[in-house]
This record gives sequence, C-alpha cells and structure tokens, in this order.
Amino acid sequence: MAKSKTASAVAPRIDPQYCCFRLRAAESKIHRWGVYADQSIPANRKVIEYRGEVIGPKEAKRRGKTPYLFVLDDHWTIDGGVGGSGAELVNHSCQPNLVSRIMKGHIIYMSLRAIRKGEELTIDYNYDDTDETMRCLCGHENCRGIINRND
Ligand SMILES: [Zn+2]
Repeated sequence: MAKSKTASAVAPRIDPQYCCFRLRAAESKIHRWGVYADQSIPANRKVIEYRGEVIGPKEAKRRGKTPYLFVLDDHWTIDGGVGGSGAELVNHSCQPNLVSRIMKGHIIYMSLRAIRKGEELTIDYNYDDTDETMRCLCGHENCRGIINRND
C-alpha cells in the first residue's frame, strides 16, 4: 500500500507514570493537540506533573522561542518539549480548569474544579514577560483575547 502524504498524525503520548487520572491526547478545538479527561476528576486534586528537561538560565534564553518552556524558579526552567509527560500539551484558556503549583521543585497541575469525563484540560499560561502578543482561541465568553496577561 502506498504511503499517503497526508496520513493522519498519531496523537502524542501522555505518560501515565505522571498522571493521577486517566488522560488522553486528542485534537483540540483550541490549538492542535489537547489533553482530555478520560474519567471524571474531583476538584483540588493532582492531575498530572509537568515533566521535561531541566535547564539553566543560559539554555532557557537560547531556547526562548521553543513552545514548551515552563519557568520553575529564578534559576531553573523545564523544557516539556524534551522528555515531557504530556502536560506540555495542555492548552491555554482564560477560564481554565487546572492550575499549576510548584512543590519541591516539581510542577504539578491541580484541578481547580470538578472536571467531567471528556472535558479538555486547560490552564492559564499566565505569560507575563513576553513581548509577543499571542492570540487566544479558547472561545470562553470571558476570553481576554490574548494569552499574555496585560495587567
Ligand atoms: Zn481566551
């Protein structure tokens, strides 16, 4: 059989080792791939850990344009694009159902409210020191239109 040039892309993997609930990656209405709950998740629970390569400030600056950098503290950044758990696929929303907490050097995504099976997981990226304006497509009625915070 001939290989099609437009073969459908295979969904990226969510590493169950870092998940506390069943999650799956699927195409998102917001942006490319998203992460979906495959079971209901109560409020205020650890959902997934954001993993990736831990890099210092010089390297973080060098990779500045890559999409999956998560600033851990004044010194360390985690690049979810390298060895990520799948948490790096969680899309931004202005009305998210997850929040990130940093605990003992780990980035943990917690549920802000009860999440139904089949809902897309979202988080407020909360970018503050970027000069680029990134349009938000979360579609929420309170959408601020851009992903960056402007206050
Ligand atoms: Zn929005």
